[in-house]
Amino acid sequence: MQVIGTPATRAATIETLLKRNYIKRQKKSIVPTEKGLKVFEWVKDRKIADVALTGEWEASLNEIEEGQLPPKEFLQAIKDYTQKITEDFLAMEIEGIASPTLVCPVCKKQSVRLYEKVAKCMEDDCEWLFFRNVCGKQVSDQAVMALLENGKTTLLKGLKNKAGKSFDAYLALQEDGSTSFEFPPRSKNKKGK
Ligand SMILES: [Zn+2]
Repeated sequence: MQVIGTPATRAATIETLLKRNYIKRQKKSIVPTEKGLKVFEWVKDRKIADVALTGEWEASLNEIEEGQLPPKEFLQAIKDYTQKITEDFLAMEIEGIASPTLVCPVCKKQSVRLYEKVAKCMEDDCEWLFFRNVCGKQVSDQAVMALLENGKTTLLKGLKNKAGKSFDAYLALQEDGSTSFEFPPRSKNKKGK
């Protein structure tokens, strides 16, 4: 096995992985978490996970030393690559792979993932699904989390009914895991509206 980095940077790396919940301690060993495994699956075939990349960087550093490569060029390439891979990774997060796991209202397991269009329970024998487009509006991550954690979304504003009229409402969880609208109390003084 190829070992990269000094023992000191390795220890710091392990601490960071623990803190960010990619790995966990189990008795005397360290094992990957589910989140860690997903990220590994995503990253393993990418250049960033390839030892050859470090080799390429070493070669570039040599070229810089010998005056064959402008340091700025090297730095810019690293910046561009970092930005690209970070963006790709965040896009993956939006697709739910690394998003927090929420408790399913039906099977009560911590198996709900957020995807762009739906929130969905990942248990094989559970079919809980929530469409995030409600009356023309995308229900935010925060609102879906509130729905699952408190039984009710934050106030969804600017929803449109069939007649095209705009309204505000909450979505509340029902016992069977479906949702229904709950309306905020009507304000009695409609000043300015
Ligand atoms: Zn479920």
